[in-house]
Amino acid sequence: MGEDVAVTVEGIDPAVAPSGAGCVECEHEGGWWFHLRRCAACGHVGCCDSSPSRHASAHAREQGHAWIRSFEPGEAWFYNFEDEQVSEGPALAPPEHHPLDQPVPGPAGRVPVDWQQKLNG
Ligand SMILES: [Zn+2]
Ligand SMILES: [Zn+2]
Repeated sequence: MGEDVAVTVEGIDPAVAPSGAGCVECEHEGGWWFHLRRCAACGHVGCCDSSPSRHASAHAREQGHAWIRSFEPGEAWFYNFEDEQVSEGPALAPPEHHPLDQPVPGPAGRVPVDWQQKLNG
C-alpha cells in the first residue's frame, strides 16, 4: 500500500521503543555501566559485557532474545548471541541511542573513580 517494505528478521521487532536511557537492572540496583546495548526483540536496555554486571547478555540468555543493537551514539551494529556474529539490521524505533548528554561510562554520579580497573576484560 505504498509503504516501505521493512526488512524482517526473526527476533527483531523494529517497532518496539527502548526501555529507557540506561540499563534497566543497573538503574534498579544503583549500579553503573560502560556501554549500553538494546534488545532488538523487546527494547530492554542493558549494560555490555565489559560492564561489571553484564545485564544485556544476561537478559538475552534469560529471555531467549538473541539480537542486541548498540545503544551508543553513532553505532548501529547488531549482534546475535546465538551465532556470535556482528551484522547490520533494520532501523529501530527511536531513540536510537542514549541521550548525548549522558556520560560514558554512566550514569552521572554513580561511576567509581577507578572504573577502568573494574571493567571485565
Ligand atoms: Zn546493567
Ligand atoms: Zn529482550
